[in-house]
Amino acid sequence: MIDIHKIWKETLSYISSEITAVAYMLWIDNLTPLCVKDNTLILLAPSLHAKITVNKNYKELIRKALDKTKSSIIDVDIIIDEDTYMYAREIEIARGQSPAEAVVKEKPPQFISRYTFDNFVVGESNKLAFHAAQSVAKSPGSAEGYLSFNPLFIYGDVGLGKTHLLHAIGNYILEHLPHLKVLYVPTEKLTNDYVEALSNNTSADKNAFTLRAFREKYRNVDVLMIDDVQFLQKKTGLQEVVFHIFNELYQGGKQIILTSDRPPKEIGTLEDRLRSRFEGGLLADIGAPNLEMRIAIIRKKMFLEKLAVNDDVVYYLAEQFDSNIRELEGALSKVILYANLINKPYPDIETAKEALKNNQQKKVGLDSSDIIDAVCSYFHVSKSEIIGKKKTKDIVEARMIAIYLITELLSLPLVTIGQIFGGRDHTTIIHSRDKMLTAQKENKEVARKIKDIRAMLSQ
Ligand code: ADP
Ligand code: MG
Repeated sequence: MIDIHKIWKETLSYISSEITAVAYMLWIDNLTPLCVKDNTLILLAPSLHAKITVNKNYKELIRKALDKTKSSIIDVDIIIDEDTYMYAREIEIARGQSPAEAVVKEKPPQFISRYTFDNFVVGESNKLAFHAAQSVAKSPGSAEGYLSFNPLFIYGDVGLGKTHLLHAIGNYILEHLPHLKVLYVPTEKLTNDYVEALSNNTSADKNAFTLRAFREKYRNVDVLMIDDVQFLQKKTGLQEVVFHIFNELYQGGKQIILTSDRPPKEIGTLEDRLRSRFEGGLLADIGAPNLEMRIAIIRKKMFLEKLAVNDDVVYYLAEQFDSNIRELEGALSKVILYANLINKPYPDIETAKEALKNNQQKKVGLDSSDIIDAVCSYFHVSKSEIIGKKKTKDIVEARMIAIYLITELLSLPLVTIGQIFGGRDHTTIIHSRDKMLTAQKENKEVARKIKDIRAMLSQ
C-alpha cells in the first residue's frame, strides 16, 4: 500500500524550497493527506478559503513536487471537511496507516467529546430517551419494526441531558458511520443563520450566505439535529423554512432529531402542520433523576475527571441538587475548587458546606433571548448588531454585558453561548465575561448599567 504520509513528507520538502516560508506556513503546512483515489492524492484543507487559494495558486506546484517522489500518484485534489464523505471508504483504508489515524481524528470537533453514550448514566427517568437515541445513532433514518424513530423528539427540563444525548449521537456516528453527514444546530444558531441569509438575500457578493446557501446547508445532510426547538416560538418565517427542510429530509429517508424543554403541544404559536410533523415519530421525555442516579452521576464525573471527595460529600451534593444535573456538576466543581484554594485536597462535608454557602439558586424561567432583548432595549441597539461583528464602542459594550449576564444568570455551556453570539469561540466568551467582571468592580458606570439591566430582567 502507498504510504501517503511518507510521500507527503517528501512532497513538502520540495515545496518548502520553492515558496516563501510565510506562504508555506499559511497554505501548505496545514494541509492533511487523507487518502489516495484513482492515483490522486486527496488533501484536506482547513477552510473553504484555504481550499480555493491552494487550488488556484499551489496545485501546479504540488503536482510537480509529487512527480518528483516517483510514486504512482499523478494528481492532487484539495477538499474540505464537507467533502470527506465522498472518500469515506478510501479514508477508512488509509486510516490503517499509523499517523493517519491521529490526523483524521484531529478534525475540528463538532461534538463535545465527553458527551458520549458511555458517559451517560441511565436510569428510570431517561431510559426511553437514551435507548431511542442509541438506536437512532446506530441506524439513522430507518424504521425499527413498527416503531418509527423519525423524527426523534426528546423533551425535558433544562440540565437533564438533552444536549448530551445529541452530541452522543453525533460522536457515535462520526466514529461508526463516518460517511454520513451529521449536522447539529442549536435553534438560536439556526435563527441567526436565517436572519443573516434573509439580509444577504439580494447581495451581489457571490460568497454571501443567502437563503439558497442556508437551504443547501441544512438540506444537504443525512442527520439533522436541532436543539431547543422551543425557541421556534413566535418565529413564523423560520417555522415555515423548517417545515420545508423537515419534509425534504424526511422524504429522503434522512434522520431528524429535535429537543425541547416541553412537548410539541406546549410550544406556543407553533404552526399546526409543524407540530404534527414533530409528533409524527417518537416522543421521549427525560425526567428529573432520582437520588440513586444523582449519586451515580457524581461518581461518574469524579471518575472521568479524576476527582476525589468524601462519600458523605457525594450524598450531600446528591441530596441538595435534585432537579438539574448541570447544577449538580457545577456544585461538585465548586467544592473541588474551594478545597484546592484552602489546600484541602480531599474535601469533607464541612468544606463542601462552606464552599456552597453562597450558592444562590439561579434565576429560573429566563433564557438568553430575554437577556439579549433587555440589553438591546437598554442600549438601543438591535439584536443583529449585538450578535454580529460590528466593533463600535456602544455595541461592543452591549455585547460584552449581554455575554456576561448570560454566563452569570444561565447555566449554559460556554460553547453554546459562543454559538448564540454568531459562532464566536468559547475563549472570546471567557474573555468578555472576565473583562466585565473586573470592569464591574473598577468602573461605577459599568456597574450601574449591569445593575439596571438585572433589574429589568427581574421584573
Ligand atoms: P440539557 O440540554 O437537557 O439542558 P445537558 O445535556 O446540557 O442538558 O446536560 C447538562 C449537564 O449534565 C451536562 O454536563 C451533561 O453531561 C450532564 N448530564 C445530564 N444527564 C446526564 C446523565 N444521565 N449522565 C451523566 N451526565 C449527565
Ligand atoms: Mg441543552
